[in-house]
Amino acid sequence: MSQAANNDCVFCKIINKEIPARIVFEDENILAFYDIKPKADVHVLVIPKKHISALSETQENHQSLLGQLLFRAKEIAKQMGLSDNFNIVLNNGVKAGQAVQHLHFHLLSGWKNPHQL
Ligand code: AMP
Ligand code: ZN
Repeated sequence: MSQAANNDCVFCKIINKEIPARIVFEDENILAFYDIKPKADVHVLVIPKKHISALSETQENHQSLLGQLLFRAKEIAKQMGLSDNFNIVLNNGVKAGQAVQHLHFHLLSGWKNPHQL
């Protein structure tokens, strides 16, 4: 588990502006940017600025941050006019498809989810 900035983490590099991204929101705790390989008509990633590797690594003191991330995803959807048509997805762990080991919510609209419930 690591929660400090991680030199090998692509999302930490985006946070530190070492590699570019199409940023849609930024504040003290959160960054949101377009996914580089969109899987839907709209595909934005909402991440904490703090390096937390996965949801399963979060602690009691991360509850407010987790709420902020979800609320922000909703606000971004609203600002993009997607209030009636979006999915929030989080992959936890490599076996569950987590490719980047920095906690992130996917905000998707127009997603063709093969496993839709
Ligand atoms: P996951 O499989 O849940 O870990 O999702 C990681 C996501 O990060 C994928 O949808 C990737 O397309 C996306 N991604 C990886 N590198 C970048 C990058 N440099 N900029 C934007 N999105 C990225
Ligand atoms: Zn990171």
